[in-house]
Amino acid sequence: MKTNLPEAINKAAEILSRAKSVVIFTGAGMSAESGIATFRDPGGLWDRFDPEEVGTAEGIMSFLSEGGDKIREIIREVVESFGAARPNAGHLALAELEKMGLIRSVITQNIDNLHREAGNTKVFEVHGNLFRFRCLNCEKKFFVDREDLLGRLRDIAQGAGPLSLEGILERIPRCACGGVSRPDVVMFGESVQELDESIFEAHQSDVMLVLGTSGAVYPAAMVPQQARKAGAILIEVNPTEKVFAAENDVYIREKAAIAMPLIVEELKKKKRK
Ligand SMILES: [Zn+2]
Repeated sequence: MKTNLPEAINKAAEILSRAKSVVIFTGAGMSAESGIATFRDPGGLWDRFDPEEVGTAEGIMSFLSEGGDKIREIIREVVESFGAARPNAGHLALAELEKMGLIRSVITQNIDNLHREAGNTKVFEVHGNLFRFRCLNCEKKFFVDREDLLGRLRDIAQGAGPLSLEGILERIPRCACGGVSRPDVVMFGESVQELDESIFEAHQSDVMLVLGTSGAVYPAAMVPQQARKAGAILIEVNPTEKVFAAENDVYIREKAAIAMPLIVEELKKKKRK
């Protein structure tokens, strides 16, 4: 089925203009539009390394015992991917919607901090945030400046000789209590974060805007399904496939960076009327 883009944009704006409680749900497609590699894709990080090996403490220790070259390679790739990423026009449009008082919250599967950097303030991150650390001693969470963290990671990746756990730890930001911290991202085998809050938000929404998600990653993919169960209309923006939108919903086959600014423009026109 071919969707008529202007018509779909118009319908989305119409629905949003009448909505009482809009919740946003975003996935990897949104990050990809900012140049962040989708690690699950062919050739991506998780295609070349076994995530169950890399994404666990045991796996990291085993790589370190081999000298740490694989860890350096992974860190280099993460730095390259996240280092140049900036909020795209889609992120900025979502921040604009918040300024217009039109959205309740953002729920994201992405760990790139770009929704916060764009200006959204109520953000639930089910897979954590790479730029937030968690103290292993006092459990306190704290944000680390993007450039500061990337600099520290580059230092780890560039060092010569075998990489040691001490070598990594001394470059990782310390908590104010002096405790060792770790990135507050959900590793393989760990529970997702803020899922109860996200489902609560979904239940409170009458419209959910779903952007760039394949719906393949559970339990995060439950969020739009829960919104629908609670009676919300879904507006799905996805350039490649329709995953969540049903008959009475709106599906926009387009990138978020293109569709969202058009929707905001349309909403502003409606407000002026
Ligand atoms: Zn602490």
